[in-house]
Amino acid sequence: MSTVLPYERGDGKIQGWHRDRLAVIYVRQSSRQQVLDHGESTRLQYGLTGRAAALGWPASRVMVIDEDLGRSAANAAERPGFARLVAEITMGHVGLVLGLEMSRLARAGRDWHQLIELCSLAGALLADADGVYDPNWYNDRLLLGLKGTMTELELHLIRQRMASGRLAKAGRGELAVPLPAGYVRRPSGEVALDPDEQVQAVIRLVFGLFEQLGTVHAVLRFLVEHQVRIGMRERSGPGKGEVAWRAPHQQGLVNMLRNPVYAGIYAYGRSRTDRSRRLPGHEHSGRVRRLDAGQWLVRIEGALPAYISVEQYERNQARLAANRARAESLGAPREGPALLGGLVACGICGHRMQVSYETSRQGLTGRYCCQRRHHTYGEPRCQQMAARFLDDHVVAQVLSALAPAALELSVTATRQVETRRAEVDRIWRQRLERADFACDRARRQYQLAEPENRLVARQLEREWEAALAERANLGEDYERYQRQRPARLSPAELAAIRALAGDIPALWAAPTTTMADRKRLLRAVIESVQVTADGATERVQATVTWAGGHQTHAALLRPVARIDQLSYYPALTGRIRALAGEGLGNAAIAGRLAAEGFCTPRQHERFHDGEIQHLIRRLGLRPGLDHDHRTDQGSLAPGQWWLAALAREIGMPAATLFGWLKRGWVTGRQDTRAPYRWIITADHAEVERLRALHQLPAGYHNRRRWTDDGIPIDTSKDKEPDNHGREDLRSSH
Ligand SMILES: [Zn+2]
Repeated sequence: MSTVLPYERGDGKIQGWHRDRLAVIYVRQSSRQQVLDHGESTRLQYGLTGRAAALGWPASRVMVIDEDLGRSAANAAERPGFARLVAEITMGHVGLVLGLEMSRLARAGRDWHQLIELCSLAGALLADADGVYDPNWYNDRLLLGLKGTMTELELHLIRQRMASGRLAKAGRGELAVPLPAGYVRRPSGEVALDPDEQVQAVIRLVFGLFEQLGTVHAVLRFLVEHQVRIGMRERSGPGKGEVAWRAPHQQGLVNMLRNPVYAGIYAYGRSRTDRSRRLPGHEHSGRVRRLDAGQWLVRIEGALPAYISVEQYERNQARLAANRARAESLGAPREGPALLGGLVACGICGHRMQVSYETSRQGLTGRYCCQRRHHTYGEPRCQQMAARFLDDHVVAQVLSALAPAALELSVTATRQVETRRAEVDRIWRQRLERADFACDRARRQYQLAEPENRLVARQLEREWEAALAERANLGEDYERYQRQRPARLSPAELAAIRALAGDIPALWAAPTTTMADRKRLLRAVIESVQVTADGATERVQATVTWAGGHQTHAALLRPVARIDQLSYYPALTGRIRALAGEGLGNAAIAGRLAAEGFCTPRQHERFHDGEIQHLIRRLGLRPGLDHDHRTDQGSLAPGQWWLAALAREIGMPAATLFGWLKRGWVTGRQDTRAPYRWIITADHAEVERLRALHQLPAGYHNRRRWTDDGIPIDTSKDKEPDNHGREDLRSSH
């Protein structure tokens, strides 16, 4: 490898000034596996250092770029090593680029031609195992272009041969497609229903349920409530082939309903990968698009054992499509008042929180709700909260960050950065000066040495050369450092920003500014807002991540539905007890509480007198002023309950029980003496039935309907806790 063919030196391609620049060895191996398998090739690539030395480059002027080892990205943007190579060539530091197979350097034709063009402009040479090429020479350039084309053609042919082989096999129904749950492949290759009867029963149950309930979410809820798990055969690992029972989830059920295998249809090419939607760094990724049944590459009916008929399969597809169309037509209003839709992330599970709207007396109000676990796994929701208080906090933060004074501060900060840079720059120049001086001294020492003393002269010559190389390296490093200088704002740009900053608060409040405009502005400066509620209490931790990554943290107070959710509920009741004990009236107690800083569950500063009255009654203070339910119970016949007493017995909010009464789920009548009080009829069995009903999962009672994409069709009934709170308080007014 380190030998030089005689014509390479002789033909004058390598000039002295080439050797003054760097020889860059670009090492790459497209995947980790290749790095392992072709260790030999990697070693050869590193061995090119010897070849560079043989071509006349001192070892100190050889640079190895190997950042791309194990990267398979097809374009230059995802290969930092290639990008660095291009940068070095552009800066004119490179005299020779060495690679094992030159055309493999670039992978994609475009990169390859760009590399040749750059080398030609910068006067750099290219070299591989076969020779040295000067891209400014016509013959060499032709050869380089041809090498690139050959490589691309080779890759293309390999890919095409693989694809057409697969397709032919699939056309005969012989290509093994991945089997879904409920199927096994016999050692002979034949596909059969899973011999495990429970596995089969669950699959049949899922299809039966969808036929009956009509939405994927309803099926999921049923499976979760009844703790049904889906049996899958392990595809790999030590337990390969054994049945593993997995919790059902939304997408899994959708996939099951869409999979034609269950109808006995052998299908191939049901989706197409859109390569233009590729993820950076993933060569084989891309957005997968499902194709309509008519566009599948292969469809053979009756080729596999079936769980359902083809008609039922088609019916299910139509149903799924109809569900989705309905969900799309009912999307949340874009002009809705919740400003942070799409920006709020759940601090508990990390998923994005959804916005839901409800019409109340205050108009349209929004909530942020983490539905992810609920929709996907049928588990309880993480958290939900009113939108307003969070929006207000974030908007205040944004407007104060964009206020002229704050901007002035960041301009000052930028200047400080500039000053610090100037200091670093001075240090750089001192280093360069010192290197210049070292070169100078080495030169003088060499010149002063007596020519007769050859040993000393040779040593001094080497030292002089080393000093020169060191100086050249340092100079290039400095150049690189200077290129990284951040862009500096011109005085005109600064003035424009200052003028704009003065306008922003006015612009924000202007009647012509729409909600969509405001949302757009927030999205421009904020990346995300992460919220974590402290259990059911009013305390919320909010972290705002600004564009650019800076974070600000804040402890916020949110409105809650029930008074006993408040973190200071024990302290509050203690104070009310004490103040009532002092003989203060409702208004006086409300005034004292406000003065002591107790807020209402809705985060208002002062309780209404009526709310105090209700609390006092609920806490059993001033028994003389009101009926006490416990002592009252005696006046009722057995199997008769005051509504509040029964609610207490079951351990549920009285308002919910009242709601059930209104819906006719429990029977009761109004008290003739005090018509606002209800008497419920419930014997022992009935009490137990109600207790069981109350313990069902949240949302069960409302019988909400869900679409297959997990979007609630009717979110207005989603606010059960609110209703409790409001009813609780309202009943006292
Ligand atoms: Zn969550």
